[in-house]
Amino acid sequence: NAGAPDSKNLRVKLVLLGDSGVGKSCIVLRFVRGQFDPTSKVTVGASFLSQTIALQDSTTVKFEIWDTAGQERYAALAPLYYRGAAVAVVVYDITSPESFSKAQYWVKELQKHGSSDIVMALVGNKADLHEKREVSIEDATDYAEKNGMFFIETSAKTADNINQLFEEIAKRLPRPTA
Ligand code: GDP
Ligand code: MG
Repeated sequence: NAGAPDSKNLRVKLVLLGDSGVGKSCIVLRFVRGQFDPTSKVTVGASFLSQTIALQDSTTVKFEIWDTAGQERYAALAPLYYRGAAVAVVVYDITSPESFSKAQYWVKELQKHGSSDIVMALVGNKADLHEKREVSIEDATDYAEKNGMFFIETSAKTADNINQLFEEIAKRLPRPTA
């Protein structure tokens, strides 16, 4: 039964959270299709994509990625969205302190209502816009450390650190015990 989830073939639900416009959909499209479309408009409804990666120990991880726009506008719907998620990727834009505050809101929300063993990543996207940076790496690193999260800066535009983001998440997943 090749491809069935077992200890070597993990299948995980991953949700993206964060302000509208921080680049969540672009991160997903870069990871899954290797593309960046600067003209892409807002996410239409819920989009669902999957991508499988192989780790060095020959484990494969299939990410089932939930990227919806609804949570940005209707916070009350968010719990439906992240329920059962093994991974939450909380994204902000390094040029927007407001989006960093919003990311912190989502982290608190996940700590209160998410799965207890959820793997959380804090992602500072648009790292290519470093000349307009308004959120320091130090502040983000501090915050991530205090909250037991993995932190990385990415650029969906240049592809910088996009694959690394998902590889690091995969390494941090709890493994089923045989
Ligand atoms: P979402 O609302 O969080 O899903 O954000 P989108 O993925 O729709 O991106 C919002 C806008 O930011 C779009 O105009 C993208 O072209 C732009 N964008 C996304 N990622 C990057 C990035 O890494 N660098 C730059 N410069 N722009 C980006
Ligand atoms: Mg989107």
